[in-house]
Amino acid sequence: MKLAIALAATLVSAFPPEALANPVVVLDPGHGGSNAGARGAVPSLHEKQLTLAIATQVAAKLREHGITVELTRTDDRTLTLRQRTEVADRANADLFVSIHANASPTRSQRGYETYVLTTKGVDVDARALRAESVTPRSGLDPDIALVLDDVERGAAQWEAADLAARLQHSIRDRRGPEGDRGVRQDSEHVLLGATMPAVLVEVGFIDHPIEGKQLAEPTTQAQLAAAIAEAIEDHLAN
Ligand SMILES: [Zn+2]
Repeated sequence: MKLAIALAATLVSAFPPEALANPVVVLDPGHGGSNAGARGAVPSLHEKQLTLAIATQVAAKLREHGITVELTRTDDRTLTLRQRTEVADRANADLFVSIHANASPTRSQRGYETYVLTTKGVDVDARALRAESVTPRSGLDPDIALVLDDVERGAAQWEAADLAARLQHSIRDRRGPEGDRGVRQDSEHVLLGATMPAVLVEVGFIDHPIEGKQLAEPTTQAQLAAAIAEAIEDHLAN
């Protein structure tokens, strides 16, 4: 296995990743359609509306700076996780950023956090699936191609961690340090299929009596959109 990894590393350096001259960012407004997500402290506001409002503004800001953006949805529609990642795969996205809002059973929690989306589905079955579905790299032994895929997934995880840290920093600048719940990674936040760096940002607790009302305000939504756009731009520039 060590030999395979060394070989993979050699191949990676022989084919360095393309410079991100024309980065493509896929923004994923969480929930939608019949899946409303968490209900807000302001009862007319559900998570699906907040995520779309923020994502739309992030998209506009990034496009102003020449970054190509695709949204997994631009209206109130139901999407499966698979459909969301398919958008990212089709767009050949360099980054996938899913936007959500939190809720807590006691409505007492507040703050923002960012998840590094994991690819823990990488096991023997997943490999077999990928071997069928992934376009084979020309001239490469299929086994080596699979190792390369895993090397790329490892690199994507590092990139996602960098973006997640930038998102937390950028939101902290605007929303204050007391709400910083940090960068997280857990087995529930799995991104299926996609190999690009992927994060999920929970912008705040929509059901908290104070924070939830703030999240319903256009000024807060604009603040969060600016923070997310800035973090993405910083990440792409570095
Ligand atoms: Zn959500």
